[in-house]
Amino acid sequence: MTDSATVAGSPTTSGTGFVLRARHVLTMGAPGHVRDGAVAVVDGRIAAVGDHDDVRARFADLPVLGDGGGILIPGLVSCHGHFSEGLVTGIGETHTLWEWFVHVVEPIEDALTREMAYVGTLLKATELALSGVTTAADMFCSAPGATPITPGVVTALDEVGLRGDVSFGPSDLPHDRPLRHILAEHEALAQAAAGSRRTRFRVGLATVPASSDALLDATRSLLAEVPRLHVHLHEVREEVTASRTSRRASSIEFAADLGLLDAQTVAAHCVWLSDADIALLRRHDVAVAHCPVSNMILASGVCQVPRLLRERVPVGLGVDGAASNDSQNMLETIKAAALLQKVHHQQADIISAPAVLRMATLGGAQALGLADTVGSLEVGKAADLVLLAEASPSMAFVHDPYQAVVYCAGPRDIAGVWVDGERIVADARILTTDIAAVLPRARALASDLATRAGLHSELAGVPSSDH
Ligand SMILES: [Zn+2]
Repeated sequence: MTDSATVAGSPTTSGTGFVLRARHVLTMGAPGHVRDGAVAVVDGRIAAVGDHDDVRARFADLPVLGDGGGILIPGLVSCHGHFSEGLVTGIGETHTLWEWFVHVVEPIEDALTREMAYVGTLLKATELALSGVTTAADMFCSAPGATPITPGVVTALDEVGLRGDVSFGPSDLPHDRPLRHILAEHEALAQAAAGSRRTRFRVGLATVPASSDALLDATRSLLAEVPRLHVHLHEVREEVTASRTSRRASSIEFAADLGLLDAQTVAAHCVWLSDADIALLRRHDVAVAHCPVSNMILASGVCQVPRLLRERVPVGLGVDGAASNDSQNMLETIKAAALLQKVHHQQADIISAPAVLRMATLGGAQALGLADTVGSLEVGKAADLVLLAEASPSMAFVHDPYQAVVYCAGPRDIAGVWVDGERIVADARILTTDIAAVLPRARALASDLATRAGLHSELAGVPSSDH
């Protein structure tokens, strides 16, 4: 890290753009921390980053945004979530993962519609954007029927303006689900993503133990066409036990043997790992999407993040689904990632604020295979930017900008979010979608979904008139 930097990048100012100035610029790449820095954006890409006066001189014809205060960071990357849970928050707090899956997730998987996929994603993509997320990786989990519903996710992501990495996460055990419906859902999502401005498709698989041999074979065939995989691995100890019982290998060992991990793989959780599992993750360059909030809510365990980082396993952060986190606040996830390791190890310096912010930016981009495009403020990358203001009691002053972002900032401090140079958030308000109009529609659909899925027994103590 340095306190100042010369300007990198071309002086060309053709095209439209702006200069964004801040008291602290955290590039998360070279040169690191720049005081009174700026980023020049031309045609949606970063054209220069460095000292403000130098950037300003070289891009004199561009307008300057920002009052010179605040902290500028790369757009945050959430590596794991489920927009399929967009209408199911604040339910099932007493369950561990497998109980929660049976009582909450499975019932909604059968009841979801394309409209619910669209509105739930509008809601949660907006919540992500308002917490500084510019790239969201998602695994939509639903019971596929005759008509695919996942294209609703892509429509909503395009509307909000987020960069998406979307997958459908099927399972067919213990409940049989027709493979032709599963394949049709993958295909429909892939086609929708192909027509999207910022979202791409990835092959998804819910878990290895919940997949039949036929589904695993079909997944391998899909990966031959699209070599990117999103999967849950070793979230809870029960998964490892189930896999060892039925297939005589851990899920990671079994998936590696099948060749699934030869794809560019982002694996959610990886909480319960043996030495052999970690060696396989490293050998196959599998990236871990660490989701500390859902791991705590579901009492799943503590991911060995410091060890994984030491052993050079790529680690990004994910908010996880709206039903197992209950919020989609990425700043909360960032803080929780630091706190969980500190209290687990009872060691305050086990992980640093720069290391945690790196996982939420460049680490996440690397986990998704997108590090050439996003994750740091470097010339040539997409202008995915977040400006945090020094305008609230929590951010009135900044001693250390990394610690201010990780421990002090909240969504109300977000003055601006840009994706490809397009501003989608201003002063903690979403600009791209009329979210006030979405709320009543979401309320009605959430109530309908809870009724159709029979979730009211999960709302212990709440009079039925209240939901
Ligand atoms: Zn998940």
